[in-house]
This record gives sequence, C-alpha cells and structure tokens, in this order.
Amino acid sequence: MVRKGLGLTFEGGAFVEQYMLGDVEVDWAMPRGYGIRSMHQTDGETDDLLVCIPLPGRRRYRMSMLVPSDLAGTGTPAADKIAHGFEAGPAPELSHIQAVLDRLSPQPTRASNLRWSSVFRISHRIVDSYGRGRVFVAGDAAHIHPPTGAQGMNTGIQDAHNLAWKVALAVSGAAAPDLLDSYDAERRPVGEEVVGRTVRSAREGIGAGSSDPDYVIRREAQLLISYADSPIVGEPASNAGLAPGSRAPDARGLTRTTVAFPLRLFTLLAGPNHTLLLYADDSVDARGLELLEAAATSVDAATGGLVDTYLVASPAAEVGETVLPLIRDRDGEFARAYGAEGAAAFVIRPDGYLGFRQSPVAVDGLTGYLKPTFR
Ligand SMILES: Cc1cc2nc3c(=O)[nH]c(=O)nc-3n(C[C@H](O)[C@H](O)[C@H](O)COP(=O)(O)OP(=O)(O)OC[C@H]3O[C@@H](n4cnc5c(N)ncnc54)[C@H](O)[C@@H]3O)c2cc1C
Repeated sequence: MVRKGLGLTFEGGAFVEQYMLGDVEVDWAMPRGYGIRSMHQTDGETDDLLVCIPLPGRRRYRMSMLVPSDLAGTGTPAADKIAHGFEAGPAPELSHIQAVLDRLSPQPTRASNLRWSSVFRISHRIVDSYGRGRVFVAGDAAHIHPPTGAQGMNTGIQDAHNLAWKVALAVSGAAAPDLLDSYDAERRPVGEEVVGRTVRSAREGIGAGSSDPDYVIRREAQLLISYADSPIVGEPASNAGLAPGSRAPDARGLTRTTVAFPLRLFTLLAGPNHTLLLYADDSVDARGLELLEAAATSVDAATGGLVDTYLVASPAAEVGETVLPLIRDRDGEFARAYGAEGAAAFVIRPDGYLGFRQSPVAVDGLTGYLKPTFR
C-alpha cells in the first residue's frame, strides 16, 4: 500500500521453486554449532537442497529444503503478485524432512520433535527509489531476495540506521536541505548488490565467485559496504589509509587521564552524534595543537554543537595542556587502523562510517565537508 501510494515500482521476479522449513532435532554426531549446506546438482542445476542452521537446544536445527510435489502450490506466481515469505496451505511433516535427510544428510540420521514447519516462496525485487518526499521505505518494503547468506534482516537494519540519524537531524531542523536524499544514494546501490548477489548465491552457492573465504565472510557480514560515491562523503586520502565511506573500525587500548582501564573506540562512537577525532602524533608542536583546537571550535560553531570531539594522541605527543577531551592511543591501534599520522582529522558518522579524513588539518575543508550534512 505504501509503495503503491508513493508510486514506487518493485521490479524483479519470483523463483519458480518453493521451499520448506522445519525446526527439528537430529541424532547425528556432527560438531555442535556448525551450519550445514548440502546439495545435489544435475548439469550444474541444483535439484535437491538441504540447509541446516543450528538453533539453541541440543541437536536442534532449522532445516530448509526444496518442497516435495505433494506440498507445492501450483503454478508460477503472477508477475504482478509479490510472492515472498510463508504460504498458507499444508505444512511439511517429519516424513517430508526425513526424506530429504535420507538423500542429503552428511551422516545417516533420524529427525524428531518437529516444533514448527512451513512452506515459503522467494522473490527478488527492489524499489526504484527508497522514498518520495517525506516518506521513505526500508527493509523488505524496499528489497526482497533469497535468504541465502542471511542478508535480509541485516540489510534492513542498516537501511534504518542510515536513515534514522538523517531524519533526526531533519526533524530538529539541523539537516542540510539535501541530506535526506543521501539515503537513497547510499542504500539503494547496497540493496541492488544484495539482491543480485543473493540470487546468484541461491543458484551457485555462497562464495561461488571467490576463492578467498576471508573476503566472503567479510562480505556476507556486510563489513565491506562502502559509501565512497555518496554526495555526503569526503575524498579519499592521499596516503593509503582507510578511505572515507568505509565502515569505521574499532581500536582498543585507548586511555584517558586519571582513568586506569582502557577504552575501545567503539565506546566513544556509540552515541547518536557525529564524532570528530582529531589526531596528533609526536611531531605536533604547541602551534599544531592550537590549530587542532581551533578546528574543534569551528566545527562546534558550524554544527550547533552536534559533533562530539576528542583529541586522540600518540603516547608521547606533547598535548597534555589541551582543552579537548584527551584520549591516548596507548598501543598505536588507532594510528594503524586509520592510517593516522602528523595532525589529522576524522569525522565518523552516527551509523559508524568514516565520512571524512584530512591531514594536515585545514579548518575550511573540515567545515566545508560538514555543509551537505548540517544546515
Ligand atoms: C525463510 C527466511 C529466512 C530468513 N533468514 C534470515 C537470516 O538468517 N538473516 C537475515 O538477516 N534475514 C533473514 N531473512 C529475512 C528477514 O526475515 C527479513 O529481511 C526481515 O524480517 C525484514 O524485516 P522488515 O522489518 O523489513 O519487514 P517485516 O519483518 O516483514 O516487518 C514488516 C511488518 O509490517 C507489518 N505491516 C505490513 N503492512 C502493514 C500496514 N499496512 N500497517 C501496519 N503494519 C503493517 C507486517 O505485519 C510486519 O510485521 C529470512 C527470510 C526468510 C523468508
């Protein structure tokens, strides 16, 4: 109703295949906590499938399989009908699940104690815009796709996180006029990539296009998402350090004056505001420190105090007299993770992405970067 009311299209299609789900216990001796994916192919096409995801409880799994013909609804869904999710109609029984286990289980096993089961269909569709005017769509309202790789809920939550801080700034009157447009600019390419990749993964398996498991795990965990092309993200650094638009990584071993236990950077970033991290290493002198403090004052004025600022200093940097909240990069983790050297500035957005970096720090460039975000 919302999509139609806004005049948004939802292009894509439906998989002909139907799937079934069942929560069961099995008596196999597979290692605890591992997922299992087993399939049979004929001429490169998957014609039998078993995916077992461990659930809390002893030997309890959620199993997903192609539906047998006696449970399948008839025909392909009409092109204009969005067939996605659970179907009404008869639910799978233990015997249906056992038949697939007998063909594809890695060890002979008996399924028992069926707690819940259903039949579901999968579509792959995406809207042509993530919003119109004051109305936005996020999550499954914006994109639907196969559950392969467990991307749906995670993508939807990240849509919401990307949108929430922008709406919050707009509602309080602090947002620049075009800030809300960056939601579609940043999230629709992510949605398109997820829809395309999960459709490929459903046919070929997760990681079929890559021989590097480390890369595949990071991609499926959505750690590699980048907004580098966004209108509200700054230019790449001249050194090889972390590129603006990347997810801001954590750094441990940060210490504060008079406090014994160290902090994680994520603790500093956990609030709802933007965070400005000004960095100083041992080469920064008193004049350099004054420039960093002046930058902090300008950012405060340009954003109405909506940016939280910290000075992150190398262990021996002579910045003890600063008026800024001082954090020591005791183990150098921050400098390594961000490629920080000399005097530098990093702006991290409320959704945990690096928006801007600069070294040496020039106040005009820093406040200029903030203009498409803050009124
Ligand atoms: C079999 C299967 C397995 C999956 N496994 C995973 C997984 O492992 N990991 C993962 O990340 N994702 C997974 N997903 C995807 C995930 O479930 C969805 O992406 C996610 O639930 C979408 O959340 P949502 O809030 O956008 O939409 P929904 O969860 O659909 O919530 C929308 C809500 O809006 C309500 N609603 C609709 N219309 C109206 C209206 N007019 N007025 C008021 N309320 C309305 C609905 O009742 C519903 O409660 C799976 C999906 C399936 C089908």
